[in-house]
Amino acid sequence: MTTTASEADRAAAHFRFFTMEVLRTRRLGHSFLRVTFGGESLADFRSGGFDQSLSLFLPVGDAEHAELPSTDEDTWFGAWRAMPDEERPVMRSYTVRDQRRTDAGVDEVDIDFVLHGDASPASRWAGRAVTGRRIAAIGPAVAQNKSVRFQPPAGTGTFLMYADETALPAAAAILDRLPAGTAVKAWFEVPHADDRLTLHTAADADITWIVREKGTARADRVVEAVRATELPAADAPYAWLAGEAGTVRAVRRHLVQERSVDRRAVRFTGYWRLGATEEQLLAEAYAGQAPNEDPTSAL
Ligand SMILES: Cc1cc2nc3c(=O)[nH]c(=O)nc-3n(C[C@H](O)[C@H](O)[C@H](O)COP(=O)(O)OP(=O)(O)OC[C@H]3O[C@@H](n4cnc5c(N)ncnc54)[C@H](O)[C@@H]3O)c2cc1C
Repeated sequence: MTTTASEADRAAAHFRFFTMEVLRTRRLGHSFLRVTFGGESLADFRSGGFDQSLSLFLPVGDAEHAELPSTDEDTWFGAWRAMPDEERPVMRSYTVRDQRRTDAGVDEVDIDFVLHGDASPASRWAGRAVTGRRIAAIGPAVAQNKSVRFQPPAGTGTFLMYADETALPAAAAILDRLPAGTAVKAWFEVPHADDRLTLHTAADADITWIVREKGTARADRVVEAVRATELPAADAPYAWLAGEAGTVRAVRRHLVQERSVDRRAVRFTGYWRLGATEEQLLAEAYAGQAPNEDPTSAL
């Protein structure tokens, strides 16, 4: 029997289920809502920082909480998939923007949600989040885990970063951790001028904000902004690109084909795709996987 990478990860219990409870919410900008979660199980939550992601399970319809058939790390995925469509909790990927233990000993996790309308399950859930509301999540139990995708090789020169609003929480968490003396060129694309959040970093970060304009093809504008930026010659850059899949692909193509960035030094992730729900993206991921293999690692 062959052991897949994701089976090996499960065996090592890199991830486990957590019940998180909304402690408070705070609006960060036009599109962003920070939800701070607590809950006793978070004492075992171990974010690896940077772009650490987790999966949330949202209730279907107007139900208060998602009912999962199993929270056993080895069997949940098959049991969840076997549920009828109309009962299966909705699974969505989000970023651990921050994790802390307060002076009072409370474990807290922040997630920054983009509010993009009431018709989509995760955006709707976040828009209605109130103190005390619970949510199930599968998240990191060890800090070294495969859901931290930002893995620059030793000797990296300049860091190149592209993020749209969905990946801005991850980009901000990466910037939080980059040390002084690190050269960063970043292009951050947001829907509104007041989504240009204040970001903190010790790195030497040159950030270009691209405020989306209605009717402007997003990929073209972003590539134009990257093309207009002078990149240091021959200093082994590492590129981290995340956001809408089509734009991410266009930026990657530009860096590899026009700017000669080594394709092995480009980490790119489509966080969502225009016109496709996460179910549709997962269905595409399932198509290439064994029936019980958890495809969330592909997200
Ligand atoms: C590893 C990873 C980390 C992520 N981290 C974050 C995070 O920290 N914060 C965050 O907000 N998102 C994050 N995302 C993106 C988020 O998972 C998607 O935006 C997801 O589709 C939202 O689910 P939904 O139920 O609101 O919309 P869905 O039901 O999945 O989609 C419904 C429709 O809305 C569109 N859509 C999806 N997202 C957006 C958007 N932001 N703006 C406009 N239209 C959209 C889809 O194309 C589709 O047509 C992350 C994704 C990944 C893979």
